[in-house]
Amino acid sequence: MTHSGLESVRQGIRRAALAAGRDPASIKLIAVTKTFDAAAIEPAITAGHTMFGENRVQEAKAKWPSLKATHSKLQLHLIGPLQSNKVADAVTLFGAIHAIDRSKIAESIAKEMQKQQRLLQLFVQVNTGREEQKAGIAPGEADRFIAGCREKLNLTISGLMCIPPFTDDPEPHFKLLAGIAKRNGIAELSMGMSEDYATAIACGATFVRVGSAIFGSRPAPPPAG
Ligand SMILES: *Cc1c(COP(=O)(O)O)cnc(C)c1O
Repeated sequence: MTHSGLESVRQGIRRAALAAGRDPASIKLIAVTKTFDAAAIEPAITAGHTMFGENRVQEAKAKWPSLKATHSKLQLHLIGPLQSNKVADAVTLFGAIHAIDRSKIAESIAKEMQKQQRLLQLFVQVNTGREEQKAGIAPGEADRFIAGCREKLNLTISGLMCIPPFTDDPEPHFKLLAGIAKRNGIAELSMGMSEDYATAIACGATFVRVGSAIFGSRPAPPPAG
């Protein structure tokens, strides 16, 4: 069975990869299911998709354990900010965490992985637009932060992640992230969403995080604060 949203994004990824002279298989699609319930997600699983993203631990905990129980190969990525009191649940449920941006969180993830004997794929989020309200380490502090994760906590940092400011041209942000990854010897780049994944792929994305282009539009989030 096919899934039209998934199919069109897969084709878009393929087109963007070929246009950039890249192997389409080098780009992984994280289907972002935040706000969608199990019934909306199941057709994508039935269509053979296995990699999904959620931005809140509580929401993921409510819907994914039962989905995971019926489909053995699913891999869940936490793409939103993580609070200390949710680290244990996050390490149990997810295979990857994309928004590591402070020492305290990096430290508690390290401890929890040790305790649960689980190894997650870890990404450092960089706040490329230096936006006050946005998570992520400042670009100028990224090298030092990554070095600290590696040397003090013995963590393997697989990738970097960013969310460009909504009003900006995303390309300079993707290039900035790619440059930080390159000089730190980091292979994976988690960048690109429904509106800009083709640009992200042209700039080297290895993971794109796409929600609405697959599942349709979401209700507007409640105002922050
Ligand atoms: C919601 C979300 C996405 C997907 O956004 P779309 O515009 O629906 O593709 C990607 N990354 C993060 C961090 C998100 O919170």
